[in-house]
Amino acid sequence: MRFSHVYVEEKAANYPLTREILKKTEGAVVIPIGHYKDVFDRPRQDTEAQKKDPALILAVREGSRIFKGAPVCQSFGQRNFYYSSSVMNCLFDCEYCYLKGMYPSSNIVVFVNFEDYEKDVQKLLEDGPLYVCASYDTDLIALNGLTGLADRWISLAESNRDLLVELRTKAAPPSLALVPNVIYAFTLSPDAIARKYEKNVPSLDDRIKAAARALESGANVRLCFDPMILTDNWQEHYGELADRVSQMIDLNKLTDVSVGCFRISKEYLSSMRKSMRNSEIAWYPYVIRNGVAQYEESTDRQMQEFMCERLARYIAEEKIFTWN
Ligand code: SF4
Repeated sequence: MRFSHVYVEEKAANYPLTREILKKTEGAVVIPIGHYKDVFDRPRQDTEAQKKDPALILAVREGSRIFKGAPVCQSFGQRNFYYSSSVMNCLFDCEYCYLKGMYPSSNIVVFVNFEDYEKDVQKLLEDGPLYVCASYDTDLIALNGLTGLADRWISLAESNRDLLVELRTKAAPPSLALVPNVIYAFTLSPDAIARKYEKNVPSLDDRIKAAARALESGANVRLCFDPMILTDNWQEHYGELADRVSQMIDLNKLTDVSVGCFRISKEYLSSMRKSMRNSEIAWYPYVIRNGVAQYEESTDRQMQEFMCERLARYIAEEKIFTWN
């Protein structure tokens, strides 16, 4: 993982994590800045060009760090569902990624004050058990070699058994820590879709093998067939995916699986369209329901039902979650 430029916020300069990351990015040009938003929120950034060679920004997260789960996210029946953003943006480059519409920049911001996240979690735990998706606006496992933040969330879960942490990933790590209140969620797309729309991501087989290893080691594993992308022959692609995964993994050993079609807030879609003039995904004629751009209701239902039925050949239906 190489970065040509690292911006360091004034307040972040003296944090141990900043020093660790700067050691790992030796050779990069280091540029001190007043506030991360001075760089990250600049108007008219070429986010597609930045994606090819993103800069790294080290900053301190002030204000809110843990948020109530959004309605477009799945809560898996968990009460007290929150998500947290200790990194913004991702090393991978999926064409359908909602981050492309959410952020004005593709540069990667790492918040170095994890101690404050820990305090926020402790505070929320005073009101009862907590479910935190820690890897929504990034892929923490993919970035763990640089930041160690996936490990920090895992340790936090280890010392707080009322905290359930989900780490969602498209990486294929060789091994993962075994902690009963951590769920590793592997997102899978059919080969043809992954090859077309998921750049820099490990191959489908490597991701399935990583999920299988984690499961074999006794870890909690979730598989996410989300977002499903409407494409020619989608039934064939998604049917094959379910069959292929079931040949490599005993799906009944999974914690659960999730199924959902592509959806994105209409505001994010409109900013995606400005920067992605030629993207089939951004320019599909979605319908807007409740402020969310999505496929026609009948298509959405047909796709989700198809996948749920196919998966139900291999896993108990009560372990299959859909987002609506
Ligand atoms: S892996 Fe997830 S967060 Fe990263 S680019 Fe793909 S969809 Fe976005």
